[in-house]
Amino acid sequence: MTEQIEFIDLKAQQEKLGSGLSDAIARVLRHGRYIMGPEVAEFEQELSAFCGADHVVTCANGTDALVLVLMAEDIGPGDAVFVPSFTFIATAEAVAARRATPVFVDVDPRTFNIDAESLERAISAAKDDGLKPRMVIAVDLFGQPADYATLRKCADAHGLILVADAAQSFGAQSNEGKVGTLADYTTTSFFPAKPLGCFGDGGAVTTEDRDAATMLRSLRLHGSGSDKYENVRVGLNSRLDTLQAAILLEKLKIFPDEIDARNVAAHRYRELLSDIVVTPALSNNATSVWAQYTIVLDSEAERSAVQTSCKSAGVPTAIYYPIPLHVQKGYSHFPADPEGLQNSETLSSRVLSLPMHGYLDEAVQTRVADAVRAGLRL
Ligand SMILES: *Cc1c(COP(=O)(O)O)cnc(C)c1O
Repeated sequence: MTEQIEFIDLKAQQEKLGSGLSDAIARVLRHGRYIMGPEVAEFEQELSAFCGADHVVTCANGTDALVLVLMAEDIGPGDAVFVPSFTFIATAEAVAARRATPVFVDVDPRTFNIDAESLERAISAAKDDGLKPRMVIAVDLFGQPADYATLRKCADAHGLILVADAAQSFGAQSNEGKVGTLADYTTTSFFPAKPLGCFGDGGAVTTEDRDAATMLRSLRLHGSGSDKYENVRVGLNSRLDTLQAAILLEKLKIFPDEIDARNVAAHRYRELLSDIVVTPALSNNATSVWAQYTIVLDSEAERSAVQTSCKSAGVPTAIYYPIPLHVQKGYSHFPADPEGLQNSETLSSRVLSLPMHGYLDEAVQTRVADAVRAGLRL
């Protein structure tokens, strides 16, 4: 019986964190301030120092982080928000939940991130539909920042707010700076499987704009004014738990080492696999935190063969994402780039994500590569 490999090894991480983790949890149990306790503000400060953004506002999860940004900018019915089709559902869901219109944009086939030419076509189409273009939410899929320099030009030309959904890329950077500072707002998630994850749900928004940060702080606390029971606007209940903040403070300490280790693992995968499958491409000036290591196969049939081979070798794989958003039942009625979203459709049928975390060793990665090779009958 071959030993099962972990897709994401949170147990190895717990061992590395050692007693610091249990001590941090014990401190919260002692002071008992479970909601908005001192660790929340402390974590916001540490995260601000880590990514270089002036303001960090934590919240309950990465989906709420997007909803809070949409609320802060008063986006609603009649407004068009441009999102890639090849992403996790939350990016479009937040927009639709605000009763605004998500408009689907295609992605670049090599970086998996939103394509600027498709975005231009989608903006024209939205205007023709009588919608008001308000915002673009780029997604840094699988850990690599989108091309924010190009997106900024397009956003400025059309008066759009630029948002980075950095749930998968927090800790990465481009030559423009670190993720957290590349857009008007950056949202992230601390879901356990994300590169910087907690042991439950959590999220955050970063911004350089002080007034926007003040608005976000009010919105996450029922639209509160200066007093807790004064409500100056309609908000949400969306706070990061003190316990999760305490856990994140410990995890943030080892995060730079983990990012280095993920990059070592990604480099090793490339050496093992780039002659047999399409391995992920970094654009010139970007780094990745490798939320996923995603290969592209030649066909859906070939992907099935590789999946089967991996499964029998005890190698877990996952398909992120099997259905592009513009064909999802709940979303297919929303507008999209009129020239179609061919890259999103092709990628959905051919991508496969391999085990990736900061605790992979060469022996395990060789087993993964051997299983992929066997699936290709090489
Ligand atoms: C995980 C994820 C989210 C949502 O985060 P939650 O904390 O699960 O709500 C949003 N966008 C992307 C790209 C994600 O990967």
